[in-house]
Amino acid sequence: RAKELGGGRVEVFAPHMHTDVVRRLELGSDLQRALAEEQFAVEFQPVVDLATSRVTGVEALVRWWRGSEAVPPEEFIGPAEESGLMTPLGDWVLREACREVARWRRDSWEVGVSVNFTARQIAAPGFVESVAAALEETGLPPQALTVEVREEVLVEDAGQSVERLSALRDLGVRLAIDDFGTGYASLAYLGQLPVDVIKIDPSFVAGLGADETLTLLTRTIVRLGSDLGLTVVAEGIERPEQLELLREMGCPRGQGYLVARPMAAGRVESLVRTNLKARSVPGEVTLP
Ligand code: C2E
Ligand code: MG
Ligand code: MG
Ligand code: MG
Repeated sequence: RAKELGGGRVEVFAPHMHTDVVRRLELGSDLQRALAEEQFAVEFQPVVDLATSRVTGVEALVRWWRGSEAVPPEEFIGPAEESGLMTPLGDWVLREACREVARWRRDSWEVGVSVNFTARQIAAPGFVESVAAALEETGLPPQALTVEVREEVLVEDAGQSVERLSALRDLGVRLAIDDFGTGYASLAYLGQLPVDVIKIDPSFVAGLGADETLTLLTRTIVRLGSDLGLTVVAEGIERPEQLELLREMGCPRGQGYLVARPMAAGRVESLVRTNLKARSVPGEVTLP
C-alpha cells in the first residue's frame, strides 16, 4: 500500500515499523550533514606479531562523533549504504588511512594498514580505480594496504566481487577475509581467490580455554591458515589466557583490547615515536 501512495509519503504499517523508517530517514540526513561537517574520524587499532608483540599493522576503523556521542559503525554503515553515502565515506576513510600510514612509513616504520569494505562498496562503479587512485595520491605502496571483506561478500554476487578483488590483488594489494568462520561461504573460495589473510572471528577467541569446541575450532583454523600459507589474525583478544593459548597454538598475529584499543592517529604516532627512540632496531614498534 505504501508503494502505491508513493511520493515520499511514509505509510504507517505498524508502530515499530514507523519508528524504524523515521529513524532511518533521520539517520540518513544526519549522515549527509556529518560528512559535510567532518564529524567522522578514523581510528587505528594495532595488530601485533604474537610471538614478539611487534606491531605489524593497524586496522582503520571509522568513527562518527555525533555531538559528544560516538555512534557505532554497525549502526550507521547500513543507513549510509542505503542513502548512497557509503561510497564517499569509504573513499574518505581509505584516503585518511593511506595518508597517515604512508607518513608513518616515511618515518621508517614498516607498518601496513587494513581497511574494511562492504559488498556494496566493492560493487560500486569505479571501486578498483578509486583504490588505485588513493594509493597513487598518498604514495602508499600497494603491498602496505590490506582490503578486509567478510565472507558474505564472496557469496552475494560472487562473480563480480571476486573479479574486482583479484584486480586489486594484481596491483599488489593484500586481501583479508574478516570475521572468518561466521559467514556462509564454502571454504572452496579459498581456492578461487588470492586470499592473503584470514581474521578469526572474536566469537571463537571468546571461547578460548572456556569452551572445548571453540578452542578446537580455533586451533583448526590456525592450522588451516598455516597449511594454506595464509597469515592468520586472531581478533578480539581480551584476556591473558586467550593470548597464551593463541601463542601456544602458533597463531601468528593478534588484535584485541588486551593488546591495544583502537586509537586516534596522534596516539599511534606518540607510541611510534617513543618506541623508535627507545629501540635500536629501525622500524620496530613493540607493545608491552
Ligand atoms: P571488524 O572489521 O571486525 O572490526 C573489529 C571490531 O572489533 C571493531 O569494532 C573493534 O573496535 C572491535 N574490537 C577490537 N578489539 C576488540 C576486543 O578485544 N573486544 C571487543 N569486544 N571488540 C574489539 P568497531 O570499530 O565498532 O567496528 C565494527 C565493524 O564495523 C567492523 O568490524 C567493520 O565490519 C565495520 N567497520 C568499521 N569501520 C569501517 C569502515 O571504515 N568501513 C566499513 N565498510 N566497515 C567498517
Ligand atoms: Mg575488519
Ligand atoms: Mg573482524
Ligand atoms: Mg566484526
